[in-house]
Amino acid sequence: MTKRIAIVEDEPELAELMRDYLQQAGYRTRIFDNGATALAAFRQDRPDFIVLDLMLPGMDGVMLCRELRAFSDVPVMMVTARVEEVDRLIGLETGADDYLCKPFSPRELVARVKAILRRPRQPELEGAEFRIDKQGRRVEVRGLAIDLTPTEFLLLSTLIEHPGQIFSRAKLLDIACPDDLDVTDRAVDSHIKNLRKKLAEFFPEADLIQSVYGVGYRFELP
Ligand code: CA
Repeated sequence: MTKRIAIVEDEPELAELMRDYLQQAGYRTRIFDNGATALAAFRQDRPDFIVLDLMLPGMDGVMLCRELRAFSDVPVMMVTARVEEVDRLIGLETGADDYLCKPFSPRELVARVKAILRRPRQPELEGAEFRIDKQGRRVEVRGLAIDLTPTEFLLLSTLIEHPGQIFSRAKLLDIACPDDLDVTDRAVDSHIKNLRKKLAEFFPEADLIQSVYGVGYRFELP
């Protein structure tokens, strides 16, 4: 079935450019030029994907995304004009699935939309490569336990449970050391480095924990 993509963007030229490329890629599209109208429409009829501009007249993208998450888990790609905003957006835990900075190439947009729509919404970890044993604080790959420190367990199990989601270093720090105010972002990088090494023993070909430039990390299931 043809997937339907809503474009919420108040700059008509940009909205039309995105529409043209997404339609060429085989999607059906609908453009909204403000947040309130879009949200009202989404309550009635849910699209399969939403491209959401951050700065909108009236209700902005952050507010819209939060309201939307109360009744729908449709994938959302947030679009922002400033790369510095991305960190803040992720810190706000808006519930967006991905972020794109203006100016972007329409091809990049189409590629990211396709990738997200291919992703299973509820990760089916059972039967997949990973099993998380919360009680035993173990992560197993194909029945073999990965030798993890308690901090590494917290980080890896969180990442595995949210494949494709971008986590900022600050958020990972919160997860790994909720009570420790002295640790720095660099500590996260060093834990991630160790995790990558341990994962590479099981998946030598794959880069499961990916760096997202200037922001943090995301995990992709093999
Ligand atoms: Ca705008």
